Amino acid sequence: MSSDFTVTFWGTRGSIATPGFRFNCYGGNTTCVEIIAGDARMIFDAGTGIRDLGNKLLGQAQQGAHFSIFFSHTHWDHIQGFPFFTPAYIPNFRIDIYGMRNNAQSVQEMLQGQMQQAYFPVPFEAMQAQIHFHELTGPIQIEQATIHAFGGGHHPGGSTIYRVEFAGRSVVFCTDCELDLMLERDPGEKFPLAPGTPRQFPSDLMEFIRGTDVLIVDCQYTDELYAQRINWGHGSLSTVVALAAQTGARRTFLTHHDPEHDDETVTEIVEAAAQKLAVAQPACTVHGAREGMTISVGD
Ligand SMILES: [Zn+2]
Ligand SMILES: [Zn+2]
Repeated sequence: MSSDFTVTFWGTRGSIATPGFRFNCYGGNTTCVEIIAGDARMIFDAGTGIRDLGNKLLGQAQQGAHFSIFFSHTHWDHIQGFPFFTPAYIPNFRIDIYGMRNNAQSVQEMLQGQMQQAYFPVPFEAMQAQIHFHELTGPIQIEQATIHAFGGGHHPGGSTIYRVEFAGRSVVFCTDCELDLMLERDPGEKFPLAPGTPRQFPSDLMEFIRGTDVLIVDCQYTDELYAQRINWGHGSLSTVVALAAQTGARRTFLTHHDPEHDDETVTEIVEAAAQKLAVAQPACTVHGAREGMTISVGD
């Protein structure tokens, strides 16, 4: 058994892919994260970043490779790469797909729906891999990894937060989640909260994330931009830092970068977050998730 526990970012952009020289550092592909935990190979979301990952996996076709794809939700920036995921067309691959039902439709209906002829020339039925869909209702085990799902992410249509546990360590994947609207607030308190105001998160969310080694979290907005984007479903800097500090997440990786934020702007957001976290919880660190970056969870 392999004891590797790694995270690779294949797509870190939010909302829409952003090709171009201004995005070279953090990348332009939309959300896709690969997590390898021992013999378990998992993919979280199938934004445009999954295309390159699929091409890398093609080399494993001979061994009849198996992997699992988990969906936070089914907005475009999290599913649009799926029709370009080449392993799905190859019979040797076995792919398990997991998600929770958002709105009235299942992940299966949404993935098949985006491959209707009016949207895409190749139908879902052309995918020859052994694809199995699963609706999540509780924790599941894949090889030696345990995956927990938290269905309460605040986002239009809902979003699911995941926690992967392996060999005494863990990763939390928390994207498309408007944490500010999950806070417990006094009635009449000014909203959005000022940067220095204490944040109180719901206890079930705290329990879910507490003590994780790696927290991957949507931090699309500065506090100033968030004030103009309330109800859009995404994280704001001060509240994300408060979550990292209060849960004691050892390393936090900011992701779902705004399509209007070039490399310079994302770096400013990461540096501002690092300054705040160094005061709130000096034992923890914060980083910007960059496309192509692999981290070892135990580091
Ligand atoms: Zn998104
Ligand atoms: Zn979304």
